[in-house]
Amino acid sequence: MSDQTIKVAVSGACGRMGKEVVKMVLSSPELELVAAIDSKGGEDAGTLVGLDPCGVMIQNDLELALIESGAQVIVDFTTPHVVLKNTKMAIKHKVRPVVGTTGFTPQDIEELDELCKKEDIGGIIAPNFAIGAILMMKFAAQAAKYMPHLEIIEYHGDQKLDAPSGTSVKTAELISESRKEFRQGNPDEKETIDGSRGGQYNGFRIHSVRLPGVFAQQEVIFGGYGQSLKIRHDSYDREGYMPGVNLAIQKVMDLNGIVYGFEHFVE
Ligand code: NAP
Repeated sequence: MSDQTIKVAVSGACGRMGKEVVKMVLSSPELELVAAIDSKGGEDAGTLVGLDPCGVMIQNDLELALIESGAQVIVDFTTPHVVLKNTKMAIKHKVRPVVGTTGFTPQDIEELDELCKKEDIGGIIAPNFAIGAILMMKFAAQAAKYMPHLEIIEYHGDQKLDAPSGTSVKTAELISESRKEFRQGNPDEKETIDGSRGGQYNGFRIHSVRLPGVFAQQEVIFGGYGQSLKIRHDSYDREGYMPGVNLAIQKVMDLNGIVYGFEHFVE
């Protein structure tokens, strides 16, 4: 390995996204896999993803992995329950976090930003690393300026832990930057079944569909007099996130503090 390679640890390495990241890191000459962490330890990370053994064993002690591996960046695709604690641990050891796990509150992100700045390192938290999803968010934010009546519908598998999805929250935040805030719909509206109108965000609604067999999709529907507009993104495969994760690993080396959202790298 050349001195120019970035030393990467992958947390959640045995998960669906984690395995894809391990595969991507092992096949990227500019990156070096130095640690792989998951609650299930023991196997070689290379054989886990169907490649040759790479000499990096999956381990379940995050702090030990951070100390022993010399990792410069940690990529986290774990679960909303553990990601905050794990990211704080990485920052404490000056390992730059690139986090795809969703479920953060704005307060969590603020706290992690302060911790990163204190340690003089960068971090990236991105609810979606797919370029198409970023464009969908940007186009939706643009449309909201002219068509401010909108609803977001996101679709994910039935085992997803957080709702609404991180992508839909990020979309709502971007839309709110260009849409004048007002509450849509009939002020006398009454739900006869709780939750049937979805979650309220700055006066518009987010609906979360959870079904087996669904991967990750989102549409933003705009309504105007005599017309409607739909902006939709469909993810079919986890490989689609990997160019974004690879770029984030490289970008995070030059940052100070947390950048929240991959749209900041898509000009
Ligand atoms: P997954 O298949 O359930 O994988 C999560 C993995 O993390 C599992 O192997 C899990 O092990 C492991 N884990 C649990 N606790 C851990 C800990 N303390 N330390 C290390 N590993 C731990 O989930 P996924 O489908 O890969 O998704 C992971 C996250 O990424 C979700 O929040 C999802 O919404 C998000 N996501 C983000 C993007 C994006 O572009 N940003 C794209 C897709 C998904 P156990 O099974 O033993 O608990």
